[in-house]
Amino acid sequence: MSEPTSSPPRFRTRQPQVFARDTRLGSSAPMVYLPRGGADMLRHDATAGHLVCPFPDCEDPRLTVRGTRRVRDHFAHRSGGHAPETLAHHTGKNLIGAWLRRAYPKAAVHVDTCETESGARPDVFLSLPCGRKVAYEVQLAHLTEDEWLKRHHRYRNEGIRDVWLFGGIKYYRPLGGGGALKLGRVALKVLDSEHPILFLDPRAEQLGWVVGEGVIPALGGSPIGGGYRAEWFDLTDCQPMAGVPNLPGLHEQMRRGRQFRQHLAEERSRDDALQRSAHWRDEEWGAVRAKLELERGRPLPRVIDLSAGEDVVQNADEQGARAVEREQFLWPWSASHWRWLIMAELDHHIGSTLSMAALLDASLPGHEKLGGSWPRQLDCFLTRLRDAGYIWFAGQAAPVAKEGILVLSGEAGEPPPETPNGRRLLANPSVCLIESASARIVWQASQAVDVLRLRSNRGRSTSKWSALPPGVLGTVTRALAEGPDRGRLPPLQ
Ligand SMILES: [Zn+2]
Repeated sequence: MSEPTSSPPRFRTRQPQVFARDTRLGSSAPMVYLPRGGADMLRHDATAGHLVCPFPDCEDPRLTVRGTRRVRDHFAHRSGGHAPETLAHHTGKNLIGAWLRRAYPKAAVHVDTCETESGARPDVFLSLPCGRKVAYEVQLAHLTEDEWLKRHHRYRNEGIRDVWLFGGIKYYRPLGGGGALKLGRVALKVLDSEHPILFLDPRAEQLGWVVGEGVIPALGGSPIGGGYRAEWFDLTDCQPMAGVPNLPGLHEQMRRGRQFRQHLAEERSRDDALQRSAHWRDEEWGAVRAKLELERGRPLPRVIDLSAGEDVVQNADEQGARAVEREQFLWPWSASHWRWLIMAELDHHIGSTLSMAALLDASLPGHEKLGGSWPRQLDCFLTRLRDAGYIWFAGQAAPVAKEGILVLSGEAGEPPPETPNGRRLLANPSVCLIESASARIVWQASQAVDVLRLRSNRGRSTSKWSALPPGVLGTVTRALAEGPDRGRLPPLQ
């Protein structure tokens, strides 16, 4: 088979008449085809009146043959002629008929003459010796999606394989060069029905089909709105297989389309299952929460409820809202559930510093499997906890590297109040945190431990931060160590 071409057909060019009826043969005999350069061969039969125009309504069926170096050999009426569309349609179906007869000499090929049980009258009907039946429709005239679907289903219901060969400017709208195409609604419906888009150009005697990255999604039922182009092959170069055109790659295209459709269906059903399980998960948490609040006689801290702002952050962080949704469904916890589990864990660490990993390991077993926006959501929540006074860390939006989280209060208690004197957070008698302009961090614990200094990645050289490493009770006195109050801790108030 020769290489395909992408040059668009020239529909506006007049369709030459290349088929004639031989009056010496029966009425059901195949039409006589006038090949390129064959005018001399058939001239005598035409002038003798053996070859006549096959159109039943022809006013003057007498024919002659013509052909020059520039014009393809064709039959010409001695007077009159036929509309180009009529001629193109007639030529198209007879080309297909001749093509099928060549490929299947033992099969029955009917052009225009066969009526199926349901009353359909295909342009070409092929009945293979194995019993397989294929109906060809050469569709040059306008057709609606519903009409196409109705006729398509009628064939399918009769057990007849239908092959649609579209043609003409109604179905073939080139977009610039390179064979790029715009597909109309009918064509998209055809693809959506897992049927390839095949073209027939009766003038050029070429078969075409639609390829490009848009085809597989369209075959799968989820078109991307473009990415179509055409490839054309000379009809004589093509061989049918099992009665249908077998263009190189066509079988693979249909297989990939089915695969894509199946993939989408699986994804949808997984989404449904996830949605159901997310719904179930949220309901379950709702019940647990109600029980907890009843036992405690007070609502759980509001800080565990997802704020609208956080929602926006999460969604903006992700490639799409859908990705977030899918990911959320996979989570074993509702948003407020995992937040509450972390808060409940804080109760066991008041007055001490613990690493993020230790906090998560204790509160959310399996957290390491959570991906996507989870780290950002966690940072959002920790920052909210700090703003509300439950915990403290030095990093701006999250604990900095190796920094521990200082726990001031947990789920069971109230966060220490703020005072007008800078910001003082008093969690319990053993912990005091002062955050003010002059002394950035002062944390005093009951046990005397070494001062630990860590350089955070936030500060510049002029304002280095001290941060608390995990698992350490201690005093961070960096600001005091350098300021006028060097060596002295402010009194607890
Ligand atoms: Zn005629």
